Amino acid sequence: GAMPGAGRIDQLVAEAHDRYSGQDDGTVADYIPLLAEADPAWFGLSVVDVDGGTHAAGDVDIAFSIQSISKAFVFALAADEIGHDTIVETVGVNNTGLAFNSVVAVELNDGSPMNPMVNAGAIATTALVPGAHADERWQRIRDGLSRFAGRPLALDGEVYRSESFTNHRNQALALLLQSYGRLAIAPDEATDIYTRQCSLAVTAQDLAVMGATLADGGVNPVTGERVVSAETARDTLALLASCGMYERSGEWLFEIGLPAKSGVSGGIVAIAPGKGAVGTFSPRLDEAGNSVRGQRACAFLSRALGLNLFASA
Ligand code: GLU
Repeated sequence: GAMPGAGRIDQLVAEAHDRYSGQDDGTVADYIPLLAEADPAWFGLSVVDVDGGTHAAGDVDIAFSIQSISKAFVFALAADEIGHDTIVETVGVNNTGLAFNSVVAVELNDGSPMNPMVNAGAIATTALVPGAHADERWQRIRDGLSRFAGRPLALDGEVYRSESFTNHRNQALALLLQSYGRLAIAPDEATDIYTRQCSLAVTAQDLAVMGATLADGGVNPVTGERVVSAETARDTLALLASCGMYERSGEWLFEIGLPAKSGVSGGIVAIAPGKGAVGTFSPRLDEAGNSVRGQRACAFLSRALGLNLFASA
């Protein structure tokens, strides 16, 4: 069925915010030193529908680094350029069942990066974004993610530097992929661009617009601009359904029934194809790295707005 009317969505978004803002389970990520400085009380929630209507509550304008959520949108940009089949052949589309930064997953699968939503696969995907040199690739990514958001996104330089000094495991993953001949560009370059894309500053409102662009078949419903093809938007959502929520992707799909992507800074974007998207931000995470309040708010809204993909009514 269709989404409820605008006033009703406003009401439900406010209710979701009220219900879960007292929820203090989970901990703020600290393996990237600068992330530990986030205020655990922050909580923002926005729904943007495919007509561009916005329904927001709480801290929707606080900027935070997009982290792993960038993987979804960089995948869309890369897939749009190089095509469906190349992605399947060179990166893969199956869940690892292992942690997002697993080295073992690559080793167990003959050097395959496995899928674009884990670090190995995301670094391999970033390496596939066309460009004559590193700067051109980076600009293409920053401009592309900005078109998804409908406004120019900027790098958070502090997060970028903090992560650059501590991302040894990602550097190791890039070298490992290179050793298997599975990386299209130099490992240090691929890791650096990946670290930049993770450091782009966004808000919960941006996430909702970015998600709504995928829900709207690749057209940003606020700016009216086509960012990727409808086929790419569809492929991206399929990948998010199986791999978007770390090793909890199965549980998430079972409970909430929507393609989604989360990141360790506390963001989640959940997409209802043809309807709209939910963007949430709250830095306390569960052990898998998913925002606790964000998950609860998405579960509530999926139910209340009738968004579960597998529900027949
Ligand atoms: N930049 C982070 C990393 O590579 C992203 C992790 C995440 O959000 O899952 O470790």
